[in-house]
Amino acid sequence: PLAIHWFRRDLRILDNPGLYHAAKSAERVIPSYLLSNWTGQHHWTGPNRQKFLCEALASLDKNLQTVGGRLILRSGDAVEALLELVDESGARAIFYNEDPDPYGKSTEERLKAACESRGLACHGYHDVTLHAPHEVLTQSGDPYRVFTPYSKNWLGLEKPEPFPKPRSLGTPDDIPSDGLPTLAHWKLPEAGEEILEAGEKAAHNRLGRALEERLAHYKDHRDIPSISGTTRISQDLRFGLISPRTVYAKAAELLEKPSESEGVQTFIKELAWREFYMAILHHYPEVLEKEFNRDWRGLPWDEPGETFAAWKEGRTGFPIIDAGIRELRATGFMHNRVRMIVAMFLTKDLHIDWRLGEQFFMQQLTDGEIASNNGGWQWSAGTGADAAPYFRIQNPWSQTKRYDPKGEYIKRWVPELKDVPAKQLMEPPADGKPIASDYPLPCVDHKAERERTLSIFKKHKQSS
Ligand code: FAD
Repeated sequence: PLAIHWFRRDLRILDNPGLYHAAKSAERVIPSYLLSNWTGQHHWTGPNRQKFLCEALASLDKNLQTVGGRLILRSGDAVEALLELVDESGARAIFYNEDPDPYGKSTEERLKAACESRGLACHGYHDVTLHAPHEVLTQSGDPYRVFTPYSKNWLGLEKPEPFPKPRSLGTPDDIPSDGLPTLAHWKLPEAGEEILEAGEKAAHNRLGRALEERLAHYKDHRDIPSISGTTRISQDLRFGLISPRTVYAKAAELLEKPSESEGVQTFIKELAWREFYMAILHHYPEVLEKEFNRDWRGLPWDEPGETFAAWKEGRTGFPIIDAGIRELRATGFMHNRVRMIVAMFLTKDLHIDWRLGEQFFMQQLTDGEIASNNGGWQWSAGTGADAAPYFRIQNPWSQTKRYDPKGEYIKRWVPELKDVPAKQLMEPPADGKPIASDYPLPCVDHKAERERTLSIFKKHKQSS
């Protein structure tokens, strides 16, 4: 018999439950990917992530050829395109790995209903996290709303093993495929200049290098944006170039080494944050529109104007903010510490709705992950699950002093500041003059805006 494996956010051959089961149950497998035509329908993606996707698909196609396969690409509505492929090929079953995002889930529901009415087998597998949301619940069976007890439970659970490599796929030769996509498919402009290399092999290399060189110092280095101290695998997990089971298994091997174990434990906790936010999105899908914490629903935000434009362009006059945004635009990535500073600045210094920042990040980030991005933004805005309390407002100047004391990160991304003494990057200009001729003055006064935020939040709390 013939089966289809529908690739989605699992663009790899190794440790792929859906592909493994398809190859196990059918003699021949059609590996397929369906390009969506989202252009103009929403504002949550952009060239950086789509460029990475294009390369990941090209690489997947090559990898599939090493196991007797070939990627069959189609575009349009996923369910209709899959059913057409079934009719053309005579396939009797569809296999896929589940996508936890709301749109992914609703597509699966439509597919399952369509398969049922046609008597087609349809098999979905959990893949995207080590533990599905329903596996990590409180003793009374409720979802966790706070990270620490969630992570204790999560850490104590036995971790699933990676799946074996699939046997040969034997994809038929006569099934037509569209060509591999480029950004033109979505009518997108050029991507940033420094997007990481995509593909399963590149992802394994990144993880291998990080485990070898970075995890021993991960705990101390992960917060310093001028150091390459983190793994840089977020986009690989986002597109499934590597599976969370494989990441965990490889990291856990290092737990045996005393010199590495502290760093590895900290790293594993970060994987738990990823799964915590996915669980929050699963149990509380309304977070995509509303504040997780009901106390903060209906907060007043300023109309986005010039300061929002300056924030998006990296010319706020706050060097750490501008460096972060410029890193994001050039690489599709921003260091986690800087993401927090930049997000808190937008919501607490510029009083702009976190949803606008969330959208901008989704347009720019190669690792744009709906659950983690929403979690990160609501954390920074003070409205989310286990969020920073509203009155703990980070000061961008003192954050610079603490995490970029020599201004190395800032100077890398804001070249017009390369000759400015580090001290001047950590405080507003005392004489009220720009610190470099082509660099703007700070667009707001942090102290005054902090007071304004405190009063907005206090007033809202009293009135609700
Ligand atoms: P490492 O430090 O090496 O961590 C390993 C992995 O753990 C990461 O690849 C990621 O999958 C996970 N992880 C680490 N920190 C977090 C975290 N705080 N929350 C959830 N998962 C985490 N991460 C995304 O993957 N996609 C996003 O769209 C995203 N948006 C964010 C928005 C904001 C405002 C903030 C504050 C954080 C956001 N993060 C997001 C989390 C974090 O910044 C990135 O996961 C991290 O910077 C990726 O770099 P790395 O792979 O080197 O991380």
